[in-house]
Amino acid sequence: MNLILLGAPGAGKGTQAKLIAKKYNIPHISTGDMLRAAVVNETKLGIKAKTFMDKGELVPDEIVVGIVRERLLGNDCKKGFILDGFPRTVIQADALKKALAETGKIIDVVLNIGVSEGELINRLTGRRSCKNCGKIYHTVFNPPGKENVCDVCGGMLYQRGDDTVETVKNRLKVYCKQTAPLINYYQKEGILKTIDGEKPVDDVECAVIALLDEVA
Ligand code: ADP
Ligand code: AMP
Repeated sequence: MNLILLGAPGAGKGTQAKLIAKKYNIPHISTGDMLRAAVVNETKLGIKAKTFMDKGELVPDEIVVGIVRERLLGNDCKKGFILDGFPRTVIQADALKKALAETGKIIDVVLNIGVSEGELINRLTGRRSCKNCGKIYHTVFNPPGKENVCDVCGGMLYQRGDDTVETVKNRLKVYCKQTAPLINYYQKEGILKTIDGEKPVDDVECAVIALLDEVA
């Protein structure tokens, strides 16, 4: 199953992607995670990407398309994959279609997770992530048992530098202008499914699984 998770920043794409990846045993490919790893490792690509990420702007298409193309060639993607945070522009969506066609693949389903703007701001400003295993928490909606410590691996939790109110507002503007047109793009292709992302994590997960079981 080749799947795209679409939705604004904070809609719950990463949270749901981790659950789906486990259930269907397919890799979770998050361009945000890949870019953050490049920033931490201070690679040439990471140094370039950081200037855009810090402002809440999109990293240039050619950079992101390059890393996704390479990742999709991985052996673990043969049985399927979940794209989280990619594509984010029509140019990226077209490039993805072309790259998949070269290996005889298509996207089976695009899940659009819908959440209102006020809720997105609450979610993003309260998000915490584990430095070690990447598990996603929220200070109010999904807090760890012990403050700032990951329940799963005991790693330290941190707040992303781009989850401040100012940067979040810009990221939501960027989403409306550059990414939201993809809803129409995939609707036209007849592969878009919409999920109500305002419900609690478990309810959203049930809705996602019900939809995917129809497709799989
Ligand atoms: P995205 O990957 O779309 O940016 P995340 O999965 O990182 O979003 O979720 C953003 C924040 O919202 C996190 O703090 C997460 O714990 C929280 N969250 C995710 N899904 C829900 C939900 N259904 N209800 C409440 N909070 C949620
Ligand atoms: P995310 O973790 O998905 O919220 O992404 C964090 C940041 O990484 C974004 O605000 C962008 O700066 C950058 N980024 C992630 N995915 C993409 C993409 N597909 N295209 C451009 N920039 C991206």
